[in-house]
Amino acid sequence: MLHAKTGIKFDLNKAAEHLASAIRFKTVSYPDNSLIDFAQYNGFLQFLTEAYPEIHRVCEITMINNYSPMFRWQGSDGKGLKPILLLGHYDVVPAIEDDGVWLEPPFSGVIKGNYIWGRGAIDNKGQVIAILEAIEHLIESGFQPERDIYITLGFDEEIGGSMGAVKTAAYFKEKNIEFDCVLDEGGCIVTDIMDGLKVPAALIGIAEKATANFKISVSGQGGHSSMPPANTAIGTLAKIISNLENHPMPARLIMPVREMFKKMAPYMENNKLVLKSIDKLFPAVSSVLSKNPATNSMIRTTFAATMIGGGYAPNVLPPEAWAIVNARVLQGDSINGVMEHIRKVNPGIEFTLEKLMGEDPGNISPIDSPAYKTIEKILGEMFPEVLVLPYLMAGATDSRNYAGVSKGIYRFAAMVLNKELYATIHSENERLSFDNLASMMEFYYKLITMFE
Ligand SMILES: [Zn+2]
Repeated sequence: MLHAKTGIKFDLNKAAEHLASAIRFKTVSYPDNSLIDFAQYNGFLQFLTEAYPEIHRVCEITMINNYSPMFRWQGSDGKGLKPILLLGHYDVVPAIEDDGVWLEPPFSGVIKGNYIWGRGAIDNKGQVIAILEAIEHLIESGFQPERDIYITLGFDEEIGGSMGAVKTAAYFKEKNIEFDCVLDEGGCIVTDIMDGLKVPAALIGIAEKATANFKISVSGQGGHSSMPPANTAIGTLAKIISNLENHPMPARLIMPVREMFKKMAPYMENNKLVLKSIDKLFPAVSSVLSKNPATNSMIRTTFAATMIGGGYAPNVLPPEAWAIVNARVLQGDSINGVMEHIRKVNPGIEFTLEKLMGEDPGNISPIDSPAYKTIEKILGEMFPEVLVLPYLMAGATDSRNYAGVSKGIYRFAAMVLNKELYATIHSENERLSFDNLASMMEFYYKLITMFE
């Protein structure tokens, strides 16, 4: 496995103990808020005050909506440098405790075999602990940043962030606080996940596709099924979904994908020349890219029918049938445009289309900014053999809610994940290695001390 060049003298065992303790709080968020055990959240926040006394002594702390702590570490500068914002979230997705698949129980926080085990180790308590360890260490050593450093911890990221990140971003907006950059979870260093790439890659998320849910409903003529009409509601609904699958939205090459392809080109086993000249060749190769779900998701808005319902008895015509379609909206498309497309590919068919949730996709962050360049520089020092790539995220993070308070939002944590470890996120046997905890702490330490 890939190792970081690290030099800062952290107490790694203590940091690992802190992460293990953090994992033991069952801070599971559920879409149904009544299921959330907020006593666990309180316990976690209390634990932070004990584990990080220097941060709690030096930083100004504002509690947003009771559970999202916001730490402001004041800078020495009077020149009006814009602050930076570090994000993490301490809620986790559920884990089945006795499913026989977890090698260590998911909330045990066991330290074993060079790993800290449990739900949230990677997503996202490892990051939360790494940020706090780095800052605690810096305060202990007498460091003071030039510009203000803010840290906010979300408590409902896994269920959309409406109680945490949305409220925190609104707070910043109201106080007119604008950030030079925001750093959140998202990308990491991958060793064997990018097909055909011969070197490990650090994926810096500079944009994320928007996610939106639509409900498509069709009404039909009810009654007995013995003498049915030519089309039932279910048949019509099936046709609508099938039309949508057969008529995808147009492909487009947006900046993060274009830059990723170009930077990858020299390090690819094949297709070097195609990727290098992707600007010119895109019209010719877009059909090839469309065939692979991973590349297809980078070049267009996608649709997936995820739920379906209709009918209540085997011999009764369904008076209504419905389906939920999840769309991942590419920058340049909009919710309205997506709805128009769904109607356009189903001419002459009567149905209702309703947006259940979703917003237009957010901005693309620049890759020539001081923040991006600092990230590149730090990675060059810590992981000289790693290729730094901007990338477009298909998933959503809390950071999208901060679009109104910063033009530079970057989604990255300095941990190395192979396919096996990557697959543990939101799944079984999630665990963070000591190496990864160390490299993340070092990364945040460097970011704070090197950012100019
Ligand atoms: Zn997460």
